[in-house]
Amino acid sequence: MQLTISNLNKEYSNGVKALQNLDLSIKSGMFGLLGPNGAGKSTLMRTLATLQEPDNGEVWLDDINVLKEKEKVKQILGYLPQEFGLYKGVTAENLMVYFARMKNVYSSAGLKKTVHYLLEKVNLYSDRKKHVNTFSGGMKQRLGIALTLTGDPSLIIVDEPTAGLDPAERVRFNNLLSDISQDKIVVLSTHIVDDVSDLCAQMAIMDKGRLKIQGRPSELLLRLEGKIWEKQITKEEYDLYEMDHNIIYSQLFEGNPLIRVFSEHLPEEGFRPSNPCLEDLYFSTIKNIELCGG
Ligand code: ADP
Repeated sequence: MQLTISNLNKEYSNGVKALQNLDLSIKSGMFGLLGPNGAGKSTLMRTLATLQEPDNGEVWLDDINVLKEKEKVKQILGYLPQEFGLYKGVTAENLMVYFARMKNVYSSAGLKKTVHYLLEKVNLYSDRKKHVNTFSGGMKQRLGIALTLTGDPSLIIVDEPTAGLDPAERVRFNNLLSDISQDKIVVLSTHIVDDVSDLCAQMAIMDKGRLKIQGRPSELLLRLEGKIWEKQITKEEYDLYEMDHNIIYSQLFEGNPLIRVFSEHLPEEGFRPSNPCLEDLYFSTIKNIELCGG
């Protein structure tokens, strides 16, 4: 399967250009779309889910013209939006049955079996009789995935699913995503870099509506090989270092900034080489630091 996005543009009525000449090519498996808030990720997700029209451009899923053949897309699409309302006073099982009925693809025997299978898969079978409004954030997201999977979609779009989950819930949810991505396209939009490094063999980074970079994380990281340097400095020294060096990002370590710098050579005494990570790629891309071989 292949999802091909060509020259997609969207300008909102307030003049914000949320998508600008966007081209992307996505194969089966997990695809991670990274970008800061406002990058245009949700606009792209809603467009792929046929909930919103772009100004121009094309999207093809194999031979389906996604923007024109919406009914065909709906048959094979599972979409988990950033926020979804769950009805109060409904049990997880009844909500699943309701959604599965709407898909109109199951016999009544098949429907119950599928609902139980999916609840099992997302580890909510024993909670199926509980009201969904009593669920934790992680349970709600897992139920969201079960709802998304009814009808056995081959294109799954999940918009920032792990925001607000605690670390254990996040790992559990990510394992589930990875599990379902066999033979399907799963497009995961997120601003959490670790989600992409944990899960995705394909990725892209967007900023201000534009595609900045796309490829395999491991191949993209090669561009930074031997060019990332690290040094612990004091808070007072930070401004000076910022003037003289390409600081990609810094994090506090024992109360003082540990800076990561992009440089072809040892920047100065006291820096040590460091293995590039996806955060380096993300922040250097967003900050427009020139990567050789890019
Ligand atoms: P992301 O999901 O990456 O945070 P969005 O697609 O939500 O990005 O937003 C991209 C830009 O478009 C932002 O500047 C946002 O404020 C703007 N935007 C999103 N939806 C609308 C809308 N309905 N009307 C006007 N501007 C919007």
